Amino acid sequence: MLFFSTNKKSPAVDFRQATINGQAPDRGLYFPETIPQLPAAFWLTMKDKSKEEIAFEVIKPYVGNAIADAELKRIVAETVNFEIPLVQISERIFSLELFHGPTLAFKDVGARFMSRCLGHFAADGGAITVLVATSGDTGGAVASGFDGVPGVRVVILYPSGKVSRVQEWQLTTGGNNILALEVNGDFDDCQRMVKQAFSDEALRSEIFLTSANSINVARWLPQQFYYFFALQQAAFTKPVFSVPSGNFGNIGAGLLAFRSCLPVSHFIAACNANDTVPRYLKGEGYHPHASIATISNAMDVSDPSNFVRILELMNHDDERLKSLVSADRISDDETIATMKEVYRQYGYVLDPHGAVAYLALERWLREHPSEYGIFLETAHPVKFPDSVESVLGKPLPIPDRVSKLQDKPKHSIPIPVSYERLKEVLLA
Ligand SMILES: *Cc1c(COP(=O)(O)O)cnc(C)c1O
Repeated sequence: MLFFSTNKKSPAVDFRQATINGQAPDRGLYFPETIPQLPAAFWLTMKDKSKEEIAFEVIKPYVGNAIADAELKRIVAETVNFEIPLVQISERIFSLELFHGPTLAFKDVGARFMSRCLGHFAADGGAITVLVATSGDTGGAVASGFDGVPGVRVVILYPSGKVSRVQEWQLTTGGNNILALEVNGDFDDCQRMVKQAFSDEALRSEIFLTSANSINVARWLPQQFYYFFALQQAAFTKPVFSVPSGNFGNIGAGLLAFRSCLPVSHFIAACNANDTVPRYLKGEGYHPHASIATISNAMDVSDPSNFVRILELMNHDDERLKSLVSADRISDDETIATMKEVYRQYGYVLDPHGAVAYLALERWLREHPSEYGIFLETAHPVKFPDSVESVLGKPLPIPDRVSKLQDKPKHSIPIPVSYERLKEVLLA
């Protein structure tokens, strides 16, 4: 399998090179040249398969010969070694709980897969620096995934004061190969500085840089796995998936699985006030504005980096896109009201991101009375204590694997919004 660059100005590369490069040299995103079609036999036997078997079959065509089967099986097993249950909330609404991994967020899946692939590839190459901007969850998952992986240094930029306490522990308590930079700005500033580093040829001739943002195929592709796990557990077919969306990697992976024949009736991109895509799908053109801070802060992205992949998946056909995907914009007030209502009615605790997806799904199902819906619950509510505690009126217990982080010393370097400063740190 080869991956081409969405800008079409760099050569197509295999999985190994695409993973190592992160972004294509022409600054496009890698995209598979063909989309594998899963055979009918796959679906007939899916209910009897293990998570590891499903994941291996889904990812194998993309990886090709870049990793031997036995090694790929080990990587996949370590990627999905936690529960991903489908939990019924009401008659037609189900929560796919993606937060049972080490950092309590769905990003664990992509980060665990990518770190192990990169560790595997670094073993026969030189030292690699993974550079990543995070609005909170990515960084924690990446730090955890790469902690102690030999040959890989991880540099994470996060917006100071704009991540939660738990997220900050996860970002700043990693081992020696994890460096957290606390940027005096917002997530878009972090993302811009990272992009500048990637386009700095002089810098890149001195250190080998790669990204761990969801643009990396090794993070993006494994996010398909849990759409399959959801259908494996569902007693109904062709659900609607509602996906809390920021950079649009997660929903893009669902659409990719759909193109591989995953039986889904519709996708909902559930957004907060950062509504560039909802406005686009209304026919108002693609016009990002400055990002707006919300309580679902992992989705505070106004110019989603994976949107180009969504367009590619729909062959740049806007009508096709609009018939398969709808988008909704949910305000903070609506998010809080949803968290309260779902807790009161069903005793289920949503995190703010899951709540955005829940409400968008509920609205859709009201108009489509014969459909079943699954929303992706992308983070454990305990990661967002301020909003969750105000809704519940009491604190949620923090799982042990996370609470033990607060006793570790915090390591971070405060830096201003300055590319020069970032460069100094990278070269130090
Ligand atoms: C990253 C993140 C999202 C958004 O996912 P994208 O792939 O960027 O669209 C949603 N919820 C949580 C909790 C996240 O961490």
